[in-house]
Amino acid sequence: MEKLTNKSVQINRSPLNFMERAYLPALAKGLSITLGHVFKKTTTVSYPEVKRPFSPVFRGLHILNRDENGAERCTACGLCALACPAEAITMEAAERKPGEEHLYREEKYAAKYEINMLRCIFCGYCEEACPKDAVYLTETVMPANYSRESFIYKKDDLLIPDPNKKASK
Ligand code: SF4
Ligand code: SF4
Repeated sequence: MEKLTNKSVQINRSPLNFMERAYLPALAKGLSITLGHVFKKTTTVSYPEVKRPFSPVFRGLHILNRDENGAERCTACGLCALACPAEAITMEAAERKPGEEHLYREEKYAAKYEINMLRCIFCGYCEEACPKDAVYLTETVMPANYSRESFIYKKDDLLIPDPNKKASK
């Protein structure tokens, strides 16, 4: 039959000798490759004991910030939710009552604030959209979990601790 291409290779079908039947050359070749890799610089790291440095532009878990007096900065304006391409942020606004000035910086605050981390693509648009410097993306990697509900971060999960309360302890 006429060849279609000249890429065909003639296979040596001569019978194997004793050494080849005992796989000795193949074993020696395999071991030499393994030994060669033992002394090479590894490209993997022993996570979690060793951690690679993150890129300077890495964006991780969100936080809700407080001002210097410990009051919540978020005024529930909804701009972060509007900017979010993944529609991951939901909130409910509430009016600040007299005497709550130390809790909430503005007259309106987020009574409920949630981020669905399963939707979030960590783009940082919410941070950029926020006029009150209230929401930030940190360098913390989102921890793994077994349930979908645990990836819905509520206000209590996001809000940083009040620095004044910490200091007074
Ligand atoms: S980082 Fe991006 S996707 Fe995640 S909540 Fe903010 S705007 Fe939405
Ligand atoms: S986090 Fe910022 S943008 Fe989002 S609702 Fe609060 S104040 Fe508005």
